[in-house]
Amino acid sequence: MLSDSDHIPFYDVALPIPRSAPLTYAWEGTELQPGIRVLVPLGSRILTGTVVGRAATDRSQVRPIEEVLDVQPSIPPVVLELTRRVAEYYLCSWGEALDAALISGLTPQSVVYLELTAEGLSADLDAMSRSAPRRAALLDYLVQHPGPQRVSHLQQKLGTTSIAQQVESLVRMGLITAETEIERQRGPRRLRAVQLSSAAANDDEALRATFDDLDRRAPKQSLLLGHLYLQHHRKEPPQPATQLAAQLGVTTSVLEGLVAKGLAEWVEVERSSTQRVTRSSFTTRDERTLTLSAEQQRAVDRITACEDTFTVFLLDGVTGSGKTVVYQRAIERCLNRGRTALMLVPEIALTPQLYDRFVALFGASVGLMHSRMSMQERLDMWNRIQSGEVRLVIGPRSAVFAPLLNVGVIIVDEEHEPSYKQDDPSPRYNGRDVAIMRGQLEKCPVILGSATPSLETYANADDHRYERLVLASRADQAELPAVHIVDLRSARKSGHMHGTLSAELVSAMKLRLDRNEATILFLNRRGYANALLCDDCGHAPECPHCSVALTYHKTASALACHYCGYRQPALTACTTCGSTELRESGTGTQRVEEDVRKALEGTGAVIERMDTDTMKRRGAHRALLERFANNEIDVLIGTQMVAKGLDIPRVTLIGVVHADQGLHQADFRAVERTAQLLVQVSGRAGRDAARPGLVMIQTSTPEHPLYQEQLVADHPYRSETLTAELASRKHLLYPPFGRFIVVECSGPMEADVEHAARVLDRLLPADHPSWVRYGPTTPSIARLRNRYRRIIVIKNNKASDPTGGQCRTLLTSALHMYYATYAVRTVRITVDIDANGTI
Ligand code: ADP
Ligand code: ZN
Ligand code: ZN
Repeated sequence: MLSDSDHIPFYDVALPIPRSAPLTYAWEGTELQPGIRVLVPLGSRILTGTVVGRAATDRSQVRPIEEVLDVQPSIPPVVLELTRRVAEYYLCSWGEALDAALISGLTPQSVVYLELTAEGLSADLDAMSRSAPRRAALLDYLVQHPGPQRVSHLQQKLGTTSIAQQVESLVRMGLITAETEIERQRGPRRLRAVQLSSAAANDDEALRATFDDLDRRAPKQSLLLGHLYLQHHRKEPPQPATQLAAQLGVTTSVLEGLVAKGLAEWVEVERSSTQRVTRSSFTTRDERTLTLSAEQQRAVDRITACEDTFTVFLLDGVTGSGKTVVYQRAIERCLNRGRTALMLVPEIALTPQLYDRFVALFGASVGLMHSRMSMQERLDMWNRIQSGEVRLVIGPRSAVFAPLLNVGVIIVDEEHEPSYKQDDPSPRYNGRDVAIMRGQLEKCPVILGSATPSLETYANADDHRYERLVLASRADQAELPAVHIVDLRSARKSGHMHGTLSAELVSAMKLRLDRNEATILFLNRRGYANALLCDDCGHAPECPHCSVALTYHKTASALACHYCGYRQPALTACTTCGSTELRESGTGTQRVEEDVRKALEGTGAVIERMDTDTMKRRGAHRALLERFANNEIDVLIGTQMVAKGLDIPRVTLIGVVHADQGLHQADFRAVERTAQLLVQVSGRAGRDAARPGLVMIQTSTPEHPLYQEQLVADHPYRSETLTAELASRKHLLYPPFGRFIVVECSGPMEADVEHAARVLDRLLPADHPSWVRYGPTTPSIARLRNRYRRIIVIKNNKASDPTGGQCRTLLTSALHMYYATYAVRTVRITVDIDANGTI
């Protein structure tokens, strides 16, 4: 312990602990900038925290910082302030918000191997042992014991419980490399790669003859050779064999065949360097030289006019209207002015095509972040951003915290996407909304792009809080597809069904096969709560109070509302038409695949399914899409995954297998989400002006207003349906008129959870001008990972409490009382501000 003195500086350190305000520690060494990470003692533990500022204290006993982890701040000042605001808005501790902004990936459980780099071997251990004894000890051990070492072994040898933070900073300094068990299992660090043989590269004449020959006799080898030739021509580094084979949809024996013929040769590459290799079979035109349409030009001009001010734009453009090209121009301009750019996308793994388009323009200054990066990759990325090499970051929601300096434009593509919301762990933030907070701090424009804006954003544009930029027509002169509604009720009655597929849809698919065109079959499957649907009229019972579908609980034979707790016995007959044909909603992709195979038997059609089951393998998604782009697949069956970003001219038919599935979700956003999905998936058809697209929507409720207005084709998204939807939201105080907040209690003992929920129910005022609140209910998943759950739903009225400040005060003081007096040790309480509707 140090005693208070004028000479010892104090710092506030934010720790990743729930409900903890920053704590004060002392440090006598060099001045610490905010954003630097440190190890500090708390009780008997040592924790990693982030310095958030200098502190003044009159306490006489302040514990010292144990070790400083960074040379430069990990978190730039703007991001530090951003995390403070995130913590305030989403009701979590500053340290928890900072955790979201930091590179994660190394958990104590993940087995990691460490190895010295050349720099590590020659590092100045003496100097390090003075400023960072823990790191020095670790490095010293590695110097003494050459070869990869397991982290668990090191921890034992060094007598500490966790060396995660030391490892992270040493990797960032380039002194060691780290690999997880899984990465090691993926094979050695050096991989076998393939490239055009020098013989083939030097003889164009012979190569041409070979192509002609291979085209006839071995088309797969020809495909591969063409790829290698292009790669050689563009001076791109060789690709690892397995990666290349997966990308082209060939087996490695095809590669070996080419090598045997002397056309290709093996080389070795470093595995980590392959991460940066990007070449693409998607990019077809040079987008740098496109002439913008008048609408696009106007959008770019407006954004440029606001380049040094915080302005939020809604880029409201139909699918294929050239939004991405507008982003590209805005980014180009921003980079040319010496600023950096940030672009959020729903989940980059799902949009390789999009990423390739940016690399084609901005090359090595593009940094891609995604959720499947290894720790080493994350740390490399962090360094490349901080060194200024990466100036455009593209990534999912967490990229909103990227340590870019001097951001000049922020883009949120597909801003309506639910995946921008983080449900767990804390902070439960929405990447889009945090992007807007960041724009405010960076004083730069924020562009929210979508063909189907969220109703929140839609309303903000209507109220002129955001500036709306409209792109009303497709960029490439292609027409929006025609829409045809298939009435499943009558198809079923007249026996015109092939399982889940109507005869109409099947013959449309066959027609596509004849014309050598492709079909996407789309299944709207989200959420886990099933409704009870009438087979004859498509009706699903709703909660009388909440305007969401009641969820069917099979075992209890009951229907329940997850928002307010309303409950009734399950129906035996439909309340609308009296039919007794009631069925639990939910058809899987597998079932549809079986039906398609049966219906198209003997046609030779290549049928593939894309869902979370089939896409588990790394790279599988990209490989499948590239095969689709290369015309190797005739029918692609999939869930939401296929709805986004695909731009394949050969697709001229979209079949929506059961559109109602999404409508009857226990979610106040069900209508909005269904409208969005239908428009998005329809946007995948007819991307080629010469071949108009057709969308077939199979529904049991063709009279639903959503299908009544030629929704998909006729820029539906401005339809009456959504106006009506907004009116209903207003009436029931759902977003955008209210903040939808969920307080959750969970724990291993149901009685304790129930008790905690009741206590909170008493501590939170039932009636208050700032909210409408319901009592505790059991959510659709009553028990998750062995924890029982209860929730309390709150609708915070934005009209009476515009900033949400009153609501936060009520919540904070109730939680404070709870923890001070009633807390049950086994129960965890979480608060989700702006929660999803599916709970
Ligand atoms: P969105 O992002 O709105 O779906 P994209 O930017 O992907 O639209 O554009 C759709 C297609 O139209 C792309 O292939 C793109 O290269 C092309 N495109 C965009 N703008 C133009 C333009 N001004 N002229 C010609 N083609 C364009
Ligand atoms: Zn009915
Ligand atoms: Zn209800």
